[in-house]
Amino acid sequence: MQQWRDVKSRHPDALVFFRVGDFYEFFNQDAEEGARLLGLTLTSRNNGSAGDVPLAGVPAKALDDYLARLVRLGRRVAICEQVEDPAEAKGIVRREVVEMVTPGTVLHDALLEPARNVWVAALVADGAHGVGAAALDLSTGQWELSLVARDHLRSELARLQPAELVVTEAFAATLPDPEADGGPLRTLRPEWIFHPDGAREELERTFGVHSLEGLGFQEADTALIRAAGALLHYVRETQPAGIGHLAVPRIHRSRTVMLLDEMTVRNLELVEPLRPGPGGATLLSVVDRTCTPMGARMLRWWVLHPRVDAAEIWARQEAVAHLHEDTRLRETVRDALAKVGDLERIAGRLGTERASPRELRALARALARIEPLPDHLSGASAPRLEGLRAALDPLSDVRERLERALAEDPPAQVGDGGVLREGYDDELDELRRTRDGAVDFIASLQARERARTGIGSLKVGYNRVFGYYLEVTHAHSAKVPDDYVRKQTLANAERYFTPELKQWEEKVANAEDRIQSLEARLFGELRRALAGEVPRLQRTSRAVAELDVVASLAEVARACGYVRPEVHTGFDLDIRAGRHPVVETMMAREDFIPNDVRLDDERRVVILTGPNMAGKSTVLRQVGLIQLLAQMGSFVPADQARLPVADRIFTRVGASDNLVRGQSTFMVEMTETSAILHGASAASLVLLDEIGRGTSTYDGVSIAWAVSEHLHERVGAKTIFATHYHELTQLPDLLPAARNMNVVVREVGEDVVFLRRLEEGGADRSYGIQVARLAGLPLDVVARAREILADLEGTHTAGGEGLGRHGAHRPASQAPPDQLVLDLAEPALLAELRSIDVERMTPLEALNLLGGWVERARGRP
Ligand code: ADP
Ligand code: MG
Repeated sequence: MQQWRDVKSRHPDALVFFRVGDFYEFFNQDAEEGARLLGLTLTSRNNGSAGDVPLAGVPAKALDDYLARLVRLGRRVAICEQVEDPAEAKGIVRREVVEMVTPGTVLHDALLEPARNVWVAALVADGAHGVGAAALDLSTGQWELSLVARDHLRSELARLQPAELVVTEAFAATLPDPEADGGPLRTLRPEWIFHPDGAREELERTFGVHSLEGLGFQEADTALIRAAGALLHYVRETQPAGIGHLAVPRIHRSRTVMLLDEMTVRNLELVEPLRPGPGGATLLSVVDRTCTPMGARMLRWWVLHPRVDAAEIWARQEAVAHLHEDTRLRETVRDALAKVGDLERIAGRLGTERASPRELRALARALARIEPLPDHLSGASAPRLEGLRAALDPLSDVRERLERALAEDPPAQVGDGGVLREGYDDELDELRRTRDGAVDFIASLQARERARTGIGSLKVGYNRVFGYYLEVTHAHSAKVPDDYVRKQTLANAERYFTPELKQWEEKVANAEDRIQSLEARLFGELRRALAGEVPRLQRTSRAVAELDVVASLAEVARACGYVRPEVHTGFDLDIRAGRHPVVETMMAREDFIPNDVRLDDERRVVILTGPNMAGKSTVLRQVGLIQLLAQMGSFVPADQARLPVADRIFTRVGASDNLVRGQSTFMVEMTETSAILHGASAASLVLLDEIGRGTSTYDGVSIAWAVSEHLHERVGAKTIFATHYHELTQLPDLLPAARNMNVVVREVGEDVVFLRRLEEGGADRSYGIQVARLAGLPLDVVARAREILADLEGTHTAGGEGLGRHGAHRPASQAPPDQLVLDLAEPALLAELRSIDVERMTPLEALNLLGGWVERARGRP
């Protein structure tokens, strides 16, 4: 208990897995928590004068299962092992915390998802408006450093989805409250681990450099250095055995990636469906045809980090195009990659001295698959493929070394024997010969003992508990010689040994022991020697990952009929026969109706109308997804596309249910809209879907109107605004670069047929009642609704111009009505306006007044 208290005092915020024989035990508060979180039986143990101590335990064999559950719950675990052989220990076996397992620092295979990185990130304030951020995936050694504007921190975190944040308490206080549904674990650490000097030293020591310049840091990078150093400090804390496999950090400086905010990532369903559940397709799931886990992880990164530098986009396109064209090369590459496995994580495990014999054997096989790739790529003209070819070091020396050392099919663990190949080590071979000779001798004993005793059924056998024995059935017990010593009695037989057998058995056991310790030593040496090759392995892994990603994009382009978009640095966007990459996969190919969308200087803002279910949201998102795919370097689902480089893509969906965050939906909608109006530039693509829906109709129309005006007049961004407010179809009359478009439906009798076709001009009405009928509303309700509608339309038309709210619109494709001119500066009108008391007016009076003005404006007094 003293040992336990000691450990616990050093790890007060962790659940201590305290190794006792074949179990991990929890004591005191840990036992209670373990019982609660893991459903363990809580017992107690009498601890003398200290009274009863609560106790719970789990079998050591099941460690991974329990760790997985705790880590998913966001808990921190300290694994405390016996670090002495109990047989040799004097007094109580020494124990030490050998590893901390936290949500952001897991290394156990069972806890890792192949297609996703696990990020732990350290954040540190950089002045008032910036944050230095360092993110590390400990399982692969990959790290990414960047300076983030404070305003963008939330978006960056939403994209990265770190499992854990390392911050000071003061910094944590500036972060928004953790969301109810999990979010990253916050690890609070003292200010000093973020100190620039210590951080600098930590980095220099880890990478064995004298100056950080060699790693790409610059004089002014203090915040990055502080974040990176603190992260290293923390990670070292969790891995007392050492971290030997960290790649050199990648520092993201200039803005080369598009900043995608959280709502856009969500609304475009890039990596997560809006409604979670089985079968929920996302852009990632549609374009992910990668063959390796590291490729899958990189593709996820590409989807979430579209580029804004045209050169990079073009370079990627070129590579994808080449593989798209050359089907044989694409297939050869993909075939080879399919058998490569998770090179990057094996490299990570090699660096932390965890790689098992089986994994290293798998590494050798993976390298053998990679070996011919550079040759295959040698004819490829795309500079990016040329670069990948050069970066693909197949590490033949490492592979040969592994092949020479490891048995064809080695066991998962070193202790099980049979790890190393014959001929690798003379001493090992000699010991194995000794052992095998002894085993052979014992086997030959059967024939000799049968002859000596005359017992024809005598058998030599072996089991793990009793070792070697001579077995004689009870029927022959009379013939058993004097030198047989009884060892074990069975129902119908007796087992014996003889001094001779015992001698040989010891020989075998002896050899076996020495073989095991020798194998363990040799394997350890091999693994340590190879740890130095981890950086090369990481470079190759990244090249493999990127090759996998471009091959995957080429494959999708082939399979789904995508084309290479013309990406340019100008303004206009022109998509011919574009399709929604995800929705199209959910129906038969010919059922999806492609559409053209054009946005340019003359038509910057498109007001998209059409009844419910017409396909507005689909077209809107389709434009966003096509734009995003293009900026990943991918081909796009269209017949033809000319696309600019957008600095940002914004997608907002009105009235989307966001109650989890405890704000009213309308508030959320407006917060988001405001973020667009502040964040968008003329180079942005803004996609608004039913903004303003979360409030009353007049409020909604007014806000939608003003937002569109602002985007048109001030921001100048390419904008598509899908709305069921037909009032907005009047905007193009007033704004020179605004246009109406609508998704057409055809009326057939009482029904509407959705054509899913986009047309110039505004929708003429909303067809709400027909849609309601299609949805199965009882027929008498539908009929009654028609009556009411007719009534309402009648009322409003009676007052002059229709209010339009319920449908009776002039089609916007018709010519606008006579110009209405009211000169507000005209003194008479001004006086009249001043005299009006709106509060006291009845609607009819107001309408009459308005009617009068209209007459006057039309020049009819
Ligand atoms: P709206 O936003 O106008 O209410 P949606 O975009 O949500 O309509 O589309 C409704 C449904 O119509 C979608 O779920 C999809 O199944 C189908 N749909 C939309 N666009 C198309 C299209 N171009 N081709 C075929 N089906 C489509
Ligand atoms: Mg919609």
